[in-house]
Amino acid sequence: MPPNTKKGEPGSTTSQTRPDTNVAISANNSTPKVTPLAFGRLSPRRGGWSLIVDECPFCGQQHRHGAPNGPATRETTRISHCAHGQVRSYRIVVEEVA
Ligand SMILES: [Zn+2]
Repeated sequence: MPPNTKKGEPGSTTSQTRPDTNVAISANNSTPKVTPLAFGRLSPRRGGWSLIVDECPFCGQQHRHGAPNGPATRETTRISHCAHGQVRSYRIVVEEVA
């Protein structure tokens, strides 16, 4: 039986270089985040309403959201369905009620 030499221990000699360089990160939240605008239309569905965005400002695809307020929805902010692992919200202005 060969000795099972497990070298799983992290090398103690590896000097973890922590760059303390002054990276100009805009950490201040003074700049307002621009929320893209999209137009949506309300469409009745079984038991409620759908808010359909024909052209997502991020991916250009169609997205379908729920619209619990139905025709009363005039403007809302939703998370785009295409935001893979990201939280990308966009503003939807309802311009049509089908
Ligand atoms: Zn999208």
